Amino acid sequence: MTENCRSGFTPRFRPALASGPWKHQPREMKCFYSGTDAVGICKSCGRGLALPFATEFPKGLACANRCEADVERLIRAGEAVSAGSGSSAINTAVSGVFSALAGGGFIYFTGGFIEGLSLTNFMGCAFILFGLYSVTRALWLWRSARA
Ligand SMILES: [Zn+2]
Repeated sequence: MTENCRSGFTPRFRPALASGPWKHQPREMKCFYSGTDAVGICKSCGRGLALPFATEFPKGLACANRCEADVERLIRAGEAVSAGSGSSAINTAVSGVFSALAGGGFIYFTGGFIEGLSLTNFMGCAFILFGLYSVTRALWLWRSARA
């Protein structure tokens, strides 16, 4: 199928294709430095990289002797973002617990359910439900931040 599509192109047209937008031509991707088949893309500048011209990082590739520092910084920035969602999980949990406490306080200090369902009881229940929701959401955020 791919071969049939390509057969219309003259060979001298191929380099133009290879230097086109990498993301739209993953099968055509060539190394920017050597012109051979690329094994991946530099996380910083987006150039295609063959193995001898790539420096491998745990979470991406960099142009050897060129983009290593940039890619390291990008990876660290990415880790800071996931650490950020960890702390937002804590914030969500704290606000959830606070909300549930406020709801419980509402019900307790206005005489509980002795007088049936009053506005304050209703408000208290709403706070507690919101608190439970927040804590559940915080747990979910926490787990996804760790993943
Ligand atoms: Zn690069």
